[in-house]
Amino acid sequence: MEEAVYSVRMRAARGTPHEKGGQHISGAERIVSSQQVASTVQQMLSRAKNHALGEPDFINISIERLEFSKIKQIAALPLVTVKASDHGQALYCARQLLLASGVQGQVIEEAIRLLARGPSPGGRNMRGAVIMDAQSGRRLEPDPWRGVRVSRMDYTPQAAKELSRLLEPLGLDHFRVKEALALASKVIWAGTLAEICCSDDPHYTIGYVSSRRLGYVRIPYLKHHSFKGGRVFFVHLQEVNLTEYIARLQEEPVLIAQISAVQGVKDLTSLLEEKCQWTMPERATS
Ligand code: AMP
Repeated sequence: MEEAVYSVRMRAARGTPHEKGGQHISGAERIVSSQQVASTVQQMLSRAKNHALGEPDFINISIERLEFSKIKQIAALPLVTVKASDHGQALYCARQLLLASGVQGQVIEEAIRLLARGPSPGGRNMRGAVIMDAQSGRRLEPDPWRGVRVSRMDYTPQAAKELSRLLEPLGLDHFRVKEALALASKVIWAGTLAEICCSDDPHYTIGYVSSRRLGYVRIPYLKHHSFKGGRVFFVHLQEVNLTEYIARLQEEPVLIAQISAVQGVKDLTSLLEEKCQWTMPERATS
């Protein structure tokens, strides 16, 4: 990749712009070379206009030049799929995975309630994620209508190729899987204890739990058709400086340069027994 690269970001809303409370329809984040900017903008435009939540009225695409040498290079979380045959089993798996990652039981229930009801105060989906204290369940994001949007992350071309090579035999070489893994890897790298995610796309029912301890665990059927969807990032308040943590999530550019293990379906018991081989890469301390 050449010296100058570009962060290309898209967000689309309906009714009014996001800033005025419009409904979030879709968003995307890439870091690309200058030759790829135009095609990336085209792809994002077509993605914004073809979302299952409907056509947006406002599409915002921003392009920002980044200095390649200043971008942190990190490793992806290891990826695995847990065996679940229906929504009940999926919820059970999510609860067990989050408990094993250090999140309190009642806090997990509150997070699942938010994903079902829609985490914004109006009961709608948000553009960003909820930040929640893993001990008390207190919401910590400064704006609960918007949430915190993780931005400026992607793969190096070599890492993207390697990930495709590993995902392809599992039938998972899809932009959704790759983008979610990039986001989750940055989120854990930034100091998050664990995350739960359900798409806001009504047709996409696979969700995930990721954590420092267990890596990235895809969970089939996690999203019930009635769920609004969203993301919750759990943190240990005593471990993070919230302002710096949020700045890292939103602003610090990160490229995933190394791919970790990619595995197929495992049952919950063996997955919990396995010790995660992934070690968290160094992060500039705050
Ligand atoms: P998606 O996986 O794109 O269907 O997104 C599901 C939900 O995750 C959205 O409704 C947002 O609340 C949240 N979300 C999506 N992208 C981001 C992001 N870049 N940072 C934080 N939260 C996000």
